[in-house]
This record gives sequence, C-alpha cells and structure tokens, in this order.
Amino acid sequence: MSQFIVETATPKGYQLKLQTGLFINNEFVAGSDTIDTVNPANGKVIASVQAADKKEVDAAVDAASKAFHGPWGKMTPSKRAELMLKLADLIDRDNEVLSQIESLDNGKGITFSRLFDVKQIAITLRYFAGYADKIHGKVIDIEGALCYTRHEPIGVCGAIIPWNFPLMMLGWKLGPALCTGNTVVVKTSEMTPLSALKVAELIVEAGFPPGVINIITGYGAIAGDALARHMKVSKIAFTGSTAVGRHIMKAASESNLKKVTLELGGKSPNIIFDDADLDLAVRWAHKGIFFNHGQCCCAGSRVYVQASIYDKFLEKFKEYTKQTKLGHPHDDDTFQGPQISKTQFDRIMTYIEKGKEEGATCYMGGNRWGNEGYYIEPTIFTDVKQDMTIVREEIFGPVVTVSKFEDVDDVVHMALDTDYGLAAAVFTKDTARAIDVSNRLQAGTVWVNCYNELDYNTPFGGFRQSGIGRENGEYALDNYLQVKTVKINVSRQP
Ligand code: NAP
Ligand code: MG
Repeated sequence: MSQFIVETATPKGYQLKLQTGLFINNEFVAGSDTIDTVNPANGKVIASVQAADKKEVDAAVDAASKAFHGPWGKMTPSKRAELMLKLADLIDRDNEVLSQIESLDNGKGITFSRLFDVKQIAITLRYFAGYADKIHGKVIDIEGALCYTRHEPIGVCGAIIPWNFPLMMLGWKLGPALCTGNTVVVKTSEMTPLSALKVAELIVEAGFPPGVINIITGYGAIAGDALARHMKVSKIAFTGSTAVGRHIMKAASESNLKKVTLELGGKSPNIIFDDADLDLAVRWAHKGIFFNHGQCCCAGSRVYVQASIYDKFLEKFKEYTKQTKLGHPHDDDTFQGPQISKTQFDRIMTYIEKGKEEGATCYMGGNRWGNEGYYIEPTIFTDVKQDMTIVREEIFGPVVTVSKFEDVDDVVHMALDTDYGLAAAVFTKDTARAIDVSNRLQAGTVWVNCYNELDYNTPFGGFRQSGIGRENGEYALDNYLQVKTVKINVSRQP
C-alpha cells in the first residue's frame, strides 16, 4: 500500500502522507499515466498522482461488478449501514488531516474545510446509512394475483465529480449509492484528487469488502469518458459544467442507455426587496456569491435590489465585502482563498475584462490579489444590462452583478431570463410576497432570507439546463433504485 505514498508538508509545516495510487479493489495501484496536482495558493506541484485510462477504468468496473454480485450484494442492509457509519466516524476522527489536504489541494480556507467540507461528507454518509434497512416496495391489490414491488439496486454506479467541493461531492455520491446496495466507481477531478484518496484509506480501515468503492483519478476526456460509456456501468451521476453534462448524456445514449443524473451550472438570481432586513440581506448576499470563492454551482451571481434601497445596499455590500479576509488557505481566519487553477483564473479575469468592455462599471475589485497563486479580488459590477455576458454566463468566480428593479413583475421577468435554474433567493419580510415570488421562480432551490444553505437531507438539483434529478434527502434514493413488479398468480386462468 505504501508504494504510492508521497510525504510532504503544507506551507505551514503540517506533515502529510499523501496517497497517490488509483484505488481499485481496496488496493492502491498504478495507472497508465500520471497527473500533477497543484497548490492553487502558489502554483507549485504538490504531488504526481496515478491517472487511469480505459484499461484501469475497466479494472475498477470489474471490481465493482464482482463486489455487487458477491459480498456487497449478499450483505444484510444493516451491516451495510454499519460500514457506512464506521466510515463516517473515521472521517470525523481524521478531520484535521483531511482538512489540511482539502485546503492544500483546493485552496479553500482551512476553517471551512474543518467545519463544512469534512463534516458534510461524514454527516451525509450517516444520513444515508439510516436508509439502508428502510428500503422496501409495496403490495398492490390486483384481481386473482398477489402483486408486490421490490426496490432493487441498479448495479455498478459511476460518479464523476468536480473540484469545488471534492469531499462533499464524494459524500453526495457515495451516500445514496451505497445505502441502496449499489457499488461505485468514482472519478475525481484531475485538479483535486488527494482528499478522496485519503478517504480510500479509511474505506479499507472501515472494513468495506474490496470493490464496493473504487476511486480513480484521470483526465475527464479519457477516464471520465470511459466510465460514461462503459457497458457494465448501469448509472452515472455527474456534477460539473453544462457542456460536459451534455457529453455524458450522449455517451450514455451511445453505449448502454445507462441512467443519468446531472448536477450542472447556474446563474442564480438573488432578489432583495426594500422591506428586507438590509444588514442581514447584505451578509447573506455576500455568502451567496463569495462563499468558496464564487466556485459554487448555486452561487447568487445576479443580485437584484429594489430601486429605493439600491444605493444603500451597494454601500453596505462593499463595506462588508472589504472586511472579509482574502488570504492563505491555511490561515484560520481566511474567508477567501485562491481560485482553483490558472485556467479558471484566466477565465474569470477574461470575464471581468469583458464586463468592462461591454460598459458595466467595476464598482469594487476586478484585480489579481498578491503576486503568487490564483487569487482574485472580490468583484462587484454595477450598471449592468440583462444582455451583458457577465449577466448571462456562469463565471464560477468571485464576481457578482448588482442590478436595480422597480417591482415584482419586473424582477421576476429578469430572474427568469436565463437558461439555468439551479437556485434563487428572495429577501423580504412580507411572507405572502416571499411565497408568491418563490412559486414564480424557476429553480430547484429557492432560499428565503438566506443563501447557500446546503443540507444533506433536502433535495438539491436543477430546473432547465441546470440538471436532471435530485441529490440529497429521500429524493436521491430513487436515482439508485429500480422497481421490480412481481405478480403471483392465485386464481387467474390462461
Ligand atoms: P467539468 O469540465 O465539467 O468537470 C467536471 C468533472 O467532469 C471532472 O471530473 C472532469 O474531469 C470530468 N470531465 C471533463 N470532461 C469530461 C468528459 N469528456 N467526459 C467525462 N467526464 C469529463 O468542469 P470543470 O472544468 O471542473 O469546470 C468548468 C466549469 O464547470 C466551471 O467553470 C463551472 O461552470 C462548472 N462547474 C460546476 C460545478 C457544479 O457544482 N455544478 C462544479 C465544478 C464546475 P477533469 O477534472 O479531468 O477535467
Ligand atoms: Mg490541486
């Protein structure tokens, strides 16, 4: 197991033993290639990890298939739950090391890794473990026969996850897949492979049979594509961009018509009425866009403020944003760290330039921060029009547009003027208005007087081109089960 261990330390001197092999059949093995993963705070390579091509994807799927038809399939649901609970406990035990790795590889503030990301994977596994022995079908009355349904696992499930919440996304995929009796092959993002590989060590320690969970790193176009096209993968759960989401559906349709769920991008509106608690609205709007450095699929990147409070809101929003700390991921008080990569950094800076070119006012920020790593100042644009690129396209960075509106119809019209539909928010003290506007918005989640509150037990997913299916909560289970109808003849004649 130690062959692929890389010893290193964080810039603050926290010693780490990183796992860099592909995790297949409870072993760490070589890939056909390697990928360098980078610390976004300084652009330096942390480690080189093994990368899978089709051959290793085949091996992982074979292992998952054997486990499904073997020990995992035969295990009682309560025993499966026990293993999931054990894994959650080990993740909590190792919160510090997992947090150090997550912040090193992804760039998020260490306090967020500790209190959010690592806690979320553990809590999600526990929540879904509770369902393992509560999955059952129905008895349906039909004439002359007994009919019952069985809710059966699908088989080998593929999961392709992004880099913005590597551990939380792993939890969102593993939880519902495992409690329903499936086995899994996860492909992590090439940008953030390290935390999931640490979890892989804990999977072995928890006592999962080989092949139940396989975690591979690899390039999207090679390993991701091979998984999406695999004839023995019965379901694929994808989180990432809308463009790659389309590709996943195509790969599924060109191969074995595997079931597909997609969590894609967004351009979510955040609507602030003039009767809202202004100070609270400012703080939530800040969290809405700047949490995780704007790298949130549900980010409130289009803020709409009622005309009578617009100027006051902007002033307070700027003041509040100035106070939050942009800094090193391993400092306890860092709110905003670097963007994930040079590519994303360049992409975001191009959007900022485009905003200026198209006539918007850069009211705050707009520049690189520091002289190493991929930091971008929190950026606020005003004087924006609905047809500007920065209002239409997902930027996936710390960039927000703040527009003015007059009345409810005006703002609902602007909020709906997008191809996406992942999330939205309304700030008002008027309950009737909150309900009316929430009903009229086209979004998988509508927050009222809060933003970016993600809970493992509530469904999350997109309307329109933000995705297909729901993750989390009881709703997630359906994606991982298939219904079998059994009819036992009692008195029917041929
Ligand atoms: P992405 O390219 O869609 O990547 C997401 C995952 O899909 C990664 O594991 C990626 O692998 C894999 N992938 C890429 N091409 C693939 C292919 N042809 N077949 C199968 N899998 C493939 O997203 P990204 O590059 O990380 O970010 C680009 C944009 O995606 C962002 O700017 C944002 O718009 C959106 N995004 C959304 C979310 C969300 O939570 N909804 C999360 C992240 C990104 P590699 O890592 O090897 O490319
Ligand atoms: Mg990295």
